[in-house]
Amino acid sequence: MIEQKMKPTITIQKTQKSTLELLDFNNIPLGTTFTDHIFICDYENDAWVNPRIEPMHTIPTHPAAMALHYGQAIFEGMKATVAENGTAYLFRPGQNAERLNLSAERMGMPAFPKDLFIEALRQFVKLEQPWIPKKTGSALYLRPFMYADEAFIGMRSATHYKFIIIGSPSGPFFSKRIKLWAEKKYIRAAQGGTGEAKAAGNYAAAIRPTELAKAKGYDQVLWLDAVERRYIQEVGTMNIFFNINDEFITPALDGSVLDGITRKSVIRLLEDKGFTVTQRRITLDEIKTAADNGQLKEAFGTGTAVGIAYIQEIGTDEGTIHVSDTSPVGEDINHTLNAIKTGKLEDKFNWMLSV
Ligand SMILES: *Cc1c(COP(=O)(O)O)cnc(C)c1O
Repeated sequence: MIEQKMKPTITIQKTQKSTLELLDFNNIPLGTTFTDHIFICDYENDAWVNPRIEPMHTIPTHPAAMALHYGQAIFEGMKATVAENGTAYLFRPGQNAERLNLSAERMGMPAFPKDLFIEALRQFVKLEQPWIPKKTGSALYLRPFMYADEAFIGMRSATHYKFIIIGSPSGPFFSKRIKLWAEKKYIRAAQGGTGEAKAAGNYAAAIRPTELAKAKGYDQVLWLDAVERRYIQEVGTMNIFFNINDEFITPALDGSVLDGITRKSVIRLLEDKGFTVTQRRITLDEIKTAADNGQLKEAFGTGTAVGIAYIQEIGTDEGTIHVSDTSPVGEDINHTLNAIKTGKLEDKFNWMLSV
């Protein structure tokens, strides 16, 4: 990789007409409202150039843009929150920068400078701060992403990319317990594949199985390993934790599981509260046996979008695995995470970055 000599000077052009007044903070629609601005940076001649914040607009796309045909497209998901004293914060943005670059490497895409990633987010959030909802559990969802926009028909790494950040306010998620379907026909990821990358194509392949699971009455797919369909990987957009006799078990990162930032934060918080957390392979059978013996105390998913999602049951070809009705530890961890993000609890792990 060529060393980047990039001045992180970001040009800012503010909107003439904010649409903020159209947003009802008591009833925030999911994923359909966008803030006033967009951050864009272009990759050409082996360098990221022209970082800029502009009024939100659509982007003209050549029909041969390579992302549309060969799928070089990756993304991140993160949240900005606001503390009671009015300061806006990002949660562990350096982790997102590093993961974006791991995804980029796997997909043959250029790295994006970490300092520019963080500076772009800071400036963007500073500008859009009035859009950050204040209710506990709500936040401004941020979507940094990168895609190949070179017009070319042919199979190789593109030479032109765009890196973009957009923001969408998101309301509090109500902690309805979710039902998972343990999928044995389709897989999400195999070792050696792209499961570790936050790549758009991973989601494309998951859409149909997820729709089928929803038609059966489930909320999300529980993905199993590609070879034996026995080992648990993760949930649609979340990592997964099981509490078996007060030991928390989460599938190890084996190349097919996404390295979630909520996952690693939850591991840290559980350990801090004195729990043992084990990262290892775990089979669906083991979960079923634990449930049958009354040892499966809790199960929950973790991810930026929802925080912590409590699991009610797991449907399988051989019947339903029931999880207990309460998640005292999961709820405590969720509460702790939200309190750190809004400055109500001391940030003792140094996770928050004020913009
Ligand atoms: C983004 C994502 C997660 C959760 O990662 P966080 O960093 O915690 O948001 C888990 N699994 C998949 C497949 C994901 O894409």
